[in-house]
Amino acid sequence: MAERPITIAIDGYSSCGKSTIAKAMAAKLGYAYVDSGAMYRAVALYALRNGWADGDTVNGPAIIASLNSIDVHFRPDRATGRADTYLNGENVEDEIRSMAVSSVVSHVSVIREVRAKLRAMQQQMGLRGGVVMDGRDIGTAVFPHAELKIFMTADPEIRAQRRFDELRAQGRDVTFESVRTNLAERDHEDTHRAEDPLRQADDALVLDNSHLTPHGQLALALQWAEQRIGMRNPKMGN
Ligand code: C5P
Repeated sequence: MAERPITIAIDGYSSCGKSTIAKAMAAKLGYAYVDSGAMYRAVALYALRNGWADGDTVNGPAIIASLNSIDVHFRPDRATGRADTYLNGENVEDEIRSMAVSSVVSHVSVIREVRAKLRAMQQQMGLRGGVVMDGRDIGTAVFPHAELKIFMTADPEIRAQRRFDELRAQGRDVTFESVRTNLAERDHEDTHRAEDPLRQADDALVLDNSHLTPHGQLALALQWAEQRIGMRNPKMGN
């Protein structure tokens, strides 16, 4: 009988390296990877383009009224092997990573109706298990029964440096200070909002990767996954 796949939920603060580890785990296990943050970023981009969001305010009613006209989905890119994010048929994978989107996304993600729409889509994607999804509320709201929940954290200065290096490597013109401030603001908003705030699920395993190598953290997370897969697929016989 085929092995029954599990669901892996990875939550944590901004720029903890969630997506790096989630992608690597999915590749190793042959599971699908879903970047739930990209979906919130796509809605934020839609709001920005329509003039419904700036640094401090968002036009919630306008966003809610347009939710049926916002289609977000992922499509694999054969050349890069990654799943790109599409907004109403347009590839927005690069644009959603801009500082402009990062500055408004946490204001957009507090909107209950936005969360309800994206949560339903995320649950649909994970219906049959075999998925690694990262975000802020995956283990608490999207998949509260996930077999493996990982809560990632890292020192804020280290996170800011990693994010700054990543953005500069992409050729983006950002300052370290602006990146650090944006991370602190998003962490604050994501942990203090009323709807599905970022918090550690009671049954989550904590992975603090401040001083772990990428290889070290992947090995640990895979060890946890193999253990949960084993629990889901007990050996028959004897
Ligand atoms: O993961 P990423 O940093 O791309 O997420 C961008 C933003 O989307 C977060 O700061 C948060 O406001 C929102 N988000 C969320 N719930 C998720 C994933 C992301 O509210 N599951």
